[in-house]
Amino acid sequence: MIAEKGATGETMKSYRERIIRCPRLGGEVPFSYCEREAGELPCRQVIHCWNAGFPVEVYLREILTPEVWDRFCNEVPKDRITTLLDSVEAAHQRQKKQCEVVEKGLNTDCNHSGG
Ligand code: SF4
Repeated sequence: MIAEKGATGETMKSYRERIIRCPRLGGEVPFSYCEREAGELPCRQVIHCWNAGFPVEVYLREILTPEVWDRFCNEVPKDRITTLLDSVEAAHQRQKKQCEVVEKGLNTDCNHSGG
């Protein structure tokens, strides 16, 4: 269960009753579902989905313990730029490895700069 602290009962209640169309489920869900979708943790998409409606990150930081907030942050997928950079680096490493294989097979130097 999510440990709650701080926020006024009135604000928490009004946030929890808000409704949104869930892109994953294809139907409407209340925020109360999203904040506990992963058991003790909120849904990984909760900030993306709800940020336009209210300051959801501020809210979650207020109601979650620091430990639960840290676990939630570690669960959140990387942003697109980080994912893209990881993909570029992985492709670069694959290309470098292929060049090394070719060099060994042909016993020649590859023009791959490696940088
Ligand atoms: S936060 Fe998760 S459960 Fe809630 S609407 Fe977004 S994707 Fe659906």
